[in-house]
Amino acid sequence: MIVIMKSEAGTREIDAVLQRLNEMGLSGHLSRGVERTIIGVVGQTFPELKEMLNALEYVEDVVPISKPFKLASREFQPEDTIIQVGNVRIGGPEIVVMAGPCAIESEDQLMDTARAVKAAGATILRAGAFKPSTSPYNFRGLGKEGLELLAEARKQTGLPVITEVLTPADVELVAQYADILQIGTRNMQNFVLLEEAGRTNKPVMLKRGMSATLQEWLLSAEYILARGNGQVMLCERGIRTFETYTRNTMDVAAIPAIAKLSHLPIIADPSHAAGRWSLVSPLALASIAAGADGLIIEVHPSPDHALKDGAQSLNFENFGRLLPQAESVAAAVGRRLAKPTVTI
Ligand code: PEP
Ligand code: MN
Repeated sequence: MIVIMKSEAGTREIDAVLQRLNEMGLSGHLSRGVERTIIGVVGQTFPELKEMLNALEYVEDVVPISKPFKLASREFQPEDTIIQVGNVRIGGPEIVVMAGPCAIESEDQLMDTARAVKAAGATILRAGAFKPSTSPYNFRGLGKEGLELLAEARKQTGLPVITEVLTPADVELVAQYADILQIGTRNMQNFVLLEEAGRTNKPVMLKRGMSATLQEWLLSAEYILARGNGQVMLCERGIRTFETYTRNTMDVAAIPAIAKLSHLPIIADPSHAAGRWSLVSPLALASIAAGADGLIIEVHPSPDHALKDGAQSLNFENFGRLLPQAESVAAAVGRRLAKPTVTI
């Protein structure tokens, strides 16, 4: 349930409600809106709670949240969450473009790609150091060495970096290097990992499980939010269907649906949805039209030679062609692409 405070409630009155919740073994999460403060009550609630909270001073109303996900819901927070990453704001009027290779393969490969995507207009660099792999015989990433290369790429280009963390034990290490922690589709319901990411102060991009419903996905986000990390963005990356021509099926409807259900930013990953580079740009444009707050796109200097996900990676030229088109579609829906503001 949520506790809606009276507009004149100050810090002291809000703290009193939080303290009362703590005494009852519950926790309160604040959402300070422009007009009023809402406290989301998390924990095992009981029938008398509504009346008890209603009796507290400066409480305007106590409303049950109808959805099983609470902190992620629009009911708890009507305003969009905006996540600041360096100079980039994710979830506001501007659309962010994250781009880079699926996996970090070498210094040259990463630096060349970082420079190329920046020159084309991307504002965040993506690249995996710890790679989930369906087959144990495939490339699984450079690990810590990859993270160090990523830090170097950030230093050279000024682009913030997003990279995947695979296990709870790696969260601390990856958080030392990453500006955004990525949690992949295969780990969407790794609840221990979610909680560990929730303990950091780093923004987290939570990809949709390949067979997850929107509700399951939002409940996974809830694990991170409930640990006190409010900087969560969601990423639609395609779901499993009967179709085999594409690697996954891009659920474009999930984009406006999430925007309706939740205040969290929603990013689209057309690369993993399509599995084929020729479909990436059309899906990217469709995602912007549907209201995505950002794109994450795989780009490689030589997709034919990529150690991972080459078939779905754009080369520099094709990525360069996409961005002006993305700008036009963004303008058609009243938005614009975020511009790189750093000059390094
Ligand atoms: C990736 O981003 O390279 C990746 C492994 O994505 P997903 O978890 O969506 O498969
Ligand atoms: Mn990939």
